[in-house]
Amino acid sequence: TTSIAVFTSDLRLRDNPVLHAALRAADRVIPLFVVDRRVAAAGFAVPNRVAFLRDCLADLDAGLRERGGRLVIRTGDAVEEIRRVAEQADAGEVHIAGGVSAFAGRREARLREALGGALRVHGAVLTAAEPGTVTPSGKDHFAVFTPYFRAWQGVELRTPFAAPRGVPVPSGVRSEPVAAVSLLGSGSPSPGLPEGGERAGRRRLTAWLRSGLGAYADRQDDLAGDATSRLSPYLHFGCLSPVELVHRARKSGGPGADAFVRQLAWRDFHHQVLAARPDASHTDYRPRGDRWRSDDDAVAAIAAWKAGRTGYPLVDAGMRQLAAEGWMHNRARLLVASFLTKTLYVDWRVGARHFLDLLVDGDVANNQLNWQWVAGTGTDTRPNRVLNPLAQARRFDPDGAYVRRWVPELAEVPGRRVHTPWSLPGVSYPPPIVDLAEAAARFREHRHTR
Ligand code: FAD
Repeated sequence: TTSIAVFTSDLRLRDNPVLHAALRAADRVIPLFVVDRRVAAAGFAVPNRVAFLRDCLADLDAGLRERGGRLVIRTGDAVEEIRRVAEQADAGEVHIAGGVSAFAGRREARLREALGGALRVHGAVLTAAEPGTVTPSGKDHFAVFTPYFRAWQGVELRTPFAAPRGVPVPSGVRSEPVAAVSLLGSGSPSPGLPEGGERAGRRRLTAWLRSGLGAYADRQDDLAGDATSRLSPYLHFGCLSPVELVHRARKSGGPGADAFVRQLAWRDFHHQVLAARPDASHTDYRPRGDRWRSDDDAVAAIAAWKAGRTGYPLVDAGMRQLAAEGWMHNRARLLVASFLTKTLYVDWRVGARHFLDLLVDGDVANNQLNWQWVAGTGTDTRPNRVLNPLAQARRFDPDGAYVRRWVPELAEVPGRRVHTPWSLPGVSYPPPIVDLAEAAARFREHRHTR
């Protein structure tokens, strides 16, 4: 007998319930990844994520080959390809992880139609707690993080599965080379893009548990310290299992581990919101009647924001880190998103799209719902708070080292003066594109005169 393990955002051998179940169900298994043309057509196949994905697939294939198997790659419509492979191999069961996006929902519905009872959908693969299992009484999801987190901490997580020893793949199943995946995207990836794949992810995880986690609670917001795990791309592509991460962090214990587990719960939180409200990827979760600016001034401001030339060095540093690495520190993400939506008063969708064009961890649930959270249309219980770039600079980049790292024009300016280049004689830097006090007044007025 043959079963199929369809890989989606779970590109790993360790703790993979989909692969585990497919192996238990039959003597042979086809590990299948479909390069779905719809994903490319929807604008998701951007150079940074395609490059990282290619690493992931090559690494997964290598891992499977060490176990006597290989990865089968097909390009086309996912449902059509899965059905075709299942038919050709006379597969009894097709296993796949449950997703939370509208896209994944449609794919699952179509698969059910095509495969009927042969389809097996697995929970708690892409998140630690399965969306829909942690709920307030009488509702389908939590709309506020703190009570969600309280309930989430009480969930008993399954024990992680070991990587399989052998993966017997039937012969004669056609596959495309990993390199074919590059056909999806054009353009070059960011120069500082990390290496993808489960092995690279595990190396980072080991180093993180050994020497980063302990100090995380104290250092997570220190922009220059760069002291977060940088595990987000590996979580996005599923090179690492969120269930395993929670177990291992809890085992380490201490305030760093507690703070880290809390961030992993934020990831689950946004996923359960999106699972319940898939439309929140593009419509306001909590509409507030915003009339976002889109005039010529706003168009110029958006261009300056994207280029990292707003005249506010901390904002600019974040945007330049994004371009250089395909990644940005969370504290900088919060600031640049607040700056776009609340200071420039530009629609969060504009910023979210730009992030998705570049982020290697770009993720519908985390990106869109964090943007909504910052814009005040999402789950923030204080939707009118505005982050001031100068106050943020004093708190999170007090010495200016983060700005000096990412803004070469200011690399020679010592200390915190780097945050106010307009006050420095002889330093040429774009003047601020917006007056903060005027912007704050505009925001209050727009928000209150809906
Ligand atoms: P760490 O601080 O080490 O945290 C560990 C893990 O917890 C992260 O890898 C991530 O999986 C999860 N996590 C941490 N903070 C959050 C959060 N606020 N929401 C959800 N999960 C979180 N994260 C993404 O993975 N993809 C995105 O597309 C994304 N877009 C964002 C957009 C905006 C406007 C903001 C404010 C945040 C966004 N985040 C996104 C969340 C967060 O910024 C990143 O997860 C984090 O910076 C990744 O770095 P790290 O792995 O070093 O995080």
